Amino acid sequence: MRFDPRPFTEPVPFRCLYCLDCCRGRHVYLTLGDIGRIARAGHDPQEFVTFSVEGNKIRFVLAVREWDLGCVFHDPETGKCRIHGVNPVICRIYPFMVSRKPLGVEGEKPLRYRGQSLWLYYDASCPGINAENPETLITPEEIAELGLEFEREFERTDMDGLARLIDELER
Ligand code: SF4
Ligand code: SF4
Repeated sequence: MRFDPRPFTEPVPFRCLYCLDCCRGRHVYLTLGDIGRIARAGHDPQEFVTFSVEGNKIRFVLAVREWDLGCVFHDPETGKCRIHGVNPVICRIYPFMVSRKPLGVEGEKPLRYRGQSLWLYYDASCPGINAENPETLITPEEIAELGLEFEREFERTDMDGLARLIDELER
């Protein structure tokens, strides 16, 4: 699915409709924190971590099924995530996104959060945004917090860190 960004400047009602769209054909970056959390919940990193070379960096990406490019943790029968309580920070941010720069979308404005300027958006193609009978109200501040958590974790994610983590998990 293609992200259709709209400015996220006020709390929005949300209820996931399990339409599957965001768990298929996506490039979900994993941080060391994500890998450790999922592994401690009983999943072997070899089964869910793949590698992507970007410039001179190696990034860790969530594995997908070959037959439909769905995430390996997506349950095709229920449409739900099998690791909901421990899923990657990127998945917890979606259908929102956090940017350090404006994208040039009408109505956007920065949120000052923890001394930083962040531009937040929601994906208008997600049917869960402004859905009927919403389950929750998502605030820009909670997404900004997740965005900063992802940024911090992503920065320290590298091969050495993965080797140390695997060693720690095997002890
Ligand atoms: S977050 Fe949105 S796109 Fe993803 S499954 Fe839920 S309703 Fe569908
Ligand atoms: S980890 Fe869960 S929420 Fe994230 S892409 Fe996979 S199934 Fe979807």
